[in-house]
Amino acid sequence: RIVYVNGDYLPEEEAKVSVFDRGFLFADAVYEVTSILDGKIIAFDGHAKRLKRSLDELQMQNPISTEDLLEVHHQLVKRNELTEGMIYLQISRGNPGDRDFAFPSEDVTPTVVLFTQTANLLNNPKVATGMKVISVEDQRWARRDIKTTQLLFPSMAKMMAKAAGVDDAWMVEDGHVTEGSSNNAYIVKDGKIITRNLGHEILHGITRAAVLAYAEAAQMQIEERPFTIEEAKNADEAFITSASTFVMPVVEIDGVALGDGKPGKSALRLREIYLEESMKQAL
Ligand code: PLP
Repeated sequence: RIVYVNGDYLPEEEAKVSVFDRGFLFADAVYEVTSILDGKIIAFDGHAKRLKRSLDELQMQNPISTEDLLEVHHQLVKRNELTEGMIYLQISRGNPGDRDFAFPSEDVTPTVVLFTQTANLLNNPKVATGMKVISVEDQRWARRDIKTTQLLFPSMAKMMAKAAGVDDAWMVEDGHVTEGSSNNAYIVKDGKIITRNLGHEILHGITRAAVLAYAEAAQMQIEERPFTIEEAKNADEAFITSASTFVMPVVEIDGVALGDGKPGKSALRLREIYLEESMKQAL
């Protein structure tokens, strides 16, 4: 695989980042994941905008313009002959040459890393069966709207899901669902789509924004508000959204089957609309 590090395209074995890099020592880094379908980048503009916002929130310099970033994405797709999968992008505050909690002075250059991952996104077998989830207490920090690489708790939540024999964990705070381990969470009741409103408690999903816009255009009813895990278990259907899963049905929460236990109509319809519309705008 050819990866990108600070301006260079290198075989992955040759790519290196310092042991003093703040991304490594402090998770002082932000990231984005975009999906590639048919060799094209899905929702690039949204991901580039959120990246800028994450950097601003952490007072981190932006070392690369949006145009250059798009070019790096295209180069990686080409050099790796990627037709379907993801591009991972990470920007850390860089290498100050030693370990210190305080942010380094402005002259430390952020570290930019991008790499590709091959994956079968369209023919994900979970679309047909739906996903099963368990609920776990949300133990992440309070600024989940900033897409940082502090992913230890979401990794632990994923392992709890695996240990329980299910696909993912929905995180719960004060009885209300925040989001999935790496996705936004939705329930559908009496034809109404309910998903948590934006705030510091959840990541502002790029797929979420697109799906809600398409749902509205399709005259579907939407309610953006917190919902409890009990309400979720009594829903008619549920689903998640993320860059790499698009829209994915959820059929079971904590062992409770939703509706008839099969992927819901709204989820499948939104998946179809999302894929059709986002492919039209792919770069
Ligand atoms: N919520 C969390 C915690 C995530 O990690 C992600 C994606 O990685 C999402 C939501 C979905 O965001 P997006 O649709 O931008 O991929």
